[in-house]
Amino acid sequence: MQFQDHRFEIQGIALTDLCTQYGTPLYVYDASSIRQQFETLSKAFENVPLKVKYAAKALTNLTILKFMKKIGAGLDVVSIHELHLGIRAGFQASEIMFTPNCVDFAEIEEAISLGAMLNIDNLPFLEKFGQKYGHTVPLCIRVNPHIEAGGNHKIKTGHTESKFGISVEQMQEVYAIVSQYNIHITGVHVHTGSDFGDVHVFLKGAEVVYEIATHFPELEFLDFGSGFKVAYQEGDKTTDIADLGQKMSASFLNFCDRYGKKLDLWFEPGKYLVSQAGLFLAKATVVKKTPATTFVGVDTGLNHLIRPMMYGSYHDILNISNPEGEVANYSVVGYICETDTFGWERKMTETKEGDIIAFKNAGAYGFSMSSNYNSRPRPAEIFVHNGKAHLIRKRETLEDILHNQVEVEL
Ligand SMILES: *Cc1c(COP(=O)(O)O)cnc(C)c1O
Repeated sequence: MQFQDHRFEIQGIALTDLCTQYGTPLYVYDASSIRQQFETLSKAFENVPLKVKYAAKALTNLTILKFMKKIGAGLDVVSIHELHLGIRAGFQASEIMFTPNCVDFAEIEEAISLGAMLNIDNLPFLEKFGQKYGHTVPLCIRVNPHIEAGGNHKIKTGHTESKFGISVEQMQEVYAIVSQYNIHITGVHVHTGSDFGDVHVFLKGAEVVYEIATHFPELEFLDFGSGFKVAYQEGDKTTDIADLGQKMSASFLNFCDRYGKKLDLWFEPGKYLVSQAGLFLAKATVVKKTPATTFVGVDTGLNHLIRPMMYGSYHDILNISNPEGEVANYSVVGYICETDTFGWERKMTETKEGDIIAFKNAGAYGFSMSSNYNSRPRPAEIFVHNGKAHLIRKRETLEDILHNQVEVEL
């Protein structure tokens, strides 16, 4: 998003015009931002055979998936349905990594029959896999290295009590099962959760993976998951991608030397690729002064952007209808009958009813976590590509909410 000629725009298209045309609330994604993030990551790792597997769950729209394919990414999916979406978007199943957690084993069998790469994260399924497929199907092992990702506990996945991955402390059991069934292990995976950011933590995780990797002679790749931290707020610490690229490429190439084979290095970024590409636009419905604060109510709520309420996440909020107005404090809240506060006492330019309010960094886990709570239809989605705005999802209607309900005569 740029501020130019007194207005906010994406690729020359005024955001307020998009709201006039498509209504609010509205998700808007900027293709050029996604491409730029992808290129920054690719460049930082240009000295190793890098494969970027976009974590589809961050933003699952088919057109976004197609765009990822076009710029050269693969896919990481967490449900059989995401796998089907990926195939529908044009990915070869073999470019898709399926990383399920606690799904029915039938989903795993279906994913294998489709040809996806499978990532297993528990011992019972490893055993079942061995019995059924032996050496015939390649497999990746998801390890929990018990390395703390910094920040928010709710989005950490690498700590000791985490439900994700096979604990590093259970590796002897893994080696025994793999050897018993002669399982064809081609990858080792860690994903310690979102937002650790620190290059040092990545490198520590990598050391754990290298040690485990030496036990598997048929490897083709190591997958370091994601956790790249992006800035949500001015002054936020972000992952220094160039620094990470340099240090991690060196340690990776060094490991490959010791291992005796040049492996591929995989990452599975979600947030890093799409967070800042997305804006969420809503309309101010009411400005309400109380003894505590001045509320700005908007025509959306936790049903459409739940990160602030679920994780306490910070999203920058601005009034794009009055970009050069005087600044005051406002608390921006949703229309849902819950306390759905997007931001408390934020500095915003003077706001009145009907103004368009923009939430930044809404590309990841925005629409994909939305619901119909309070029987509200979900927003439309717009993709701005090559200077043109495309509607990539229609706004839902009451019909969509009634769609699967079965009315019974009483
Ligand atoms: C969610 C997820 C990711 C992506 O995490 P981000 O923080 O969005 O980059 C990557 N890998 C796996 C296995 C995931 O579950």
